Amino acid sequence: MTDRIYYTEPSCRSFQGTVTRIGEHNGRPTVVLDRTAFYPTSGGQPFDTGRLGTVSVIETLDEDEEIVHVVDTPMSVGVVVPGEIDWTRRFDHMQQHTGQHVLSAAFDRLFDNRTTSFHMGTEASTVDLAREVAQSDLERAVEEANRVIWEDREVSIRFVSADEAARLPLRKEPVREGTLRLIEIKDFDLSACGGTHVHRTGAIGMIAVTNAERFRGGARITFVCGARALRSFRQYRDAVTGAVRVLSVLPHELPNAIERAQLESKDLRKTVSRLQGMLAVHEASTLLEGATLAGDLRIVVQALEGWDAAGLKAIAAALVSQKDVAVCLLSMSDPVAVVVARSQNVVIDAAKTLRALLDRFGGRGGGRPDLAQGAGLIGKVDEILAAARDRL
Ligand SMILES: [Zn+2]
Repeated sequence: MTDRIYYTEPSCRSFQGTVTRIGEHNGRPTVVLDRTAFYPTSGGQPFDTGRLGTVSVIETLDEDEEIVHVVDTPMSVGVVVPGEIDWTRRFDHMQQHTGQHVLSAAFDRLFDNRTTSFHMGTEASTVDLAREVAQSDLERAVEEANRVIWEDREVSIRFVSADEAARLPLRKEPVREGTLRLIEIKDFDLSACGGTHVHRTGAIGMIAVTNAERFRGGARITFVCGARALRSFRQYRDAVTGAVRVLSVLPHELPNAIERAQLESKDLRKTVSRLQGMLAVHEASTLLEGATLAGDLRIVVQALEGWDAAGLKAIAAALVSQKDVAVCLLSMSDPVAVVVARSQNVVIDAAKTLRALLDRFGGRGGGRPDLAQGAGLIGKVDEILAAARDRL
């Protein structure tokens, strides 16, 4: 049985312990000590990392009565080692976990809305609430939670029997039997919890909700505390500053400005497409004048400057709307886009012609016997044009 130092001294970051057992977990060596300050994953809070002497602790597991340290180098039974936990990581977890107690208690006290589960992620944490939350209630709960944080209330640990616990106003029913560890936030919250917490609520710094959504008949609230709240603020600030600079508007005008820009761009796309269609007809008649004649068949094989794949297709369609035309158009871009098409009365297979070009110059594409499109061809435009002329 491991003596869990963090149960009574959550701010202990270095200690001495003796190796009592060694083993293996997923191919890595493990170590059990007689006592440890390392917190194992449980109750929504992730494990601690750190060092045992010169050995790195990669993960910490809770296995019944023992705490198992997954390490990067094997150790020997009987060795006494100094342990040091990664305090930046742990303190962050303490800020998030204590913040969760305060936030859950705020929802519970103000709106009788129970927390059904808690998860601490690497970026943000979530609590799931039994019932949905109106936006105004959410803001009220967050304000209440921050008020309690700024009042810098004492956070204390006590141990009680199950009988004693039954007579106490615990926020939620304890799941464990026997002796219970209670976390009390003075005059605000009392709940059974095995996690690590800051000594006073002031150390949480602040709590900010970044998202709230409906979840399984209730609500899922995403939140950040302490240093994470600052980091989150910086991310939002940088994103907003960047967007404000690009759009030349004030921050609160951003949603409208983006919507306006989207509508404008949609209108422009429509206009461009209409004009391209008109220009394609004009371009097609010019190309047809310079077509190569093979009996009745008029062959147009050209690379065109300033047209994208959609434009090439529009020109090709305009060309083959007439009788006796076979056409292969390339873009001047690199890699090359290509359209192969023919009039309904012509027997050439456009898809096969395209396939032959793709086989030789690479790229991908396909189509029907009367119209085929490809892109990503690599090669000199003159060579691709010559190959197309040979095929048509
Ligand atoms: Zn807890």
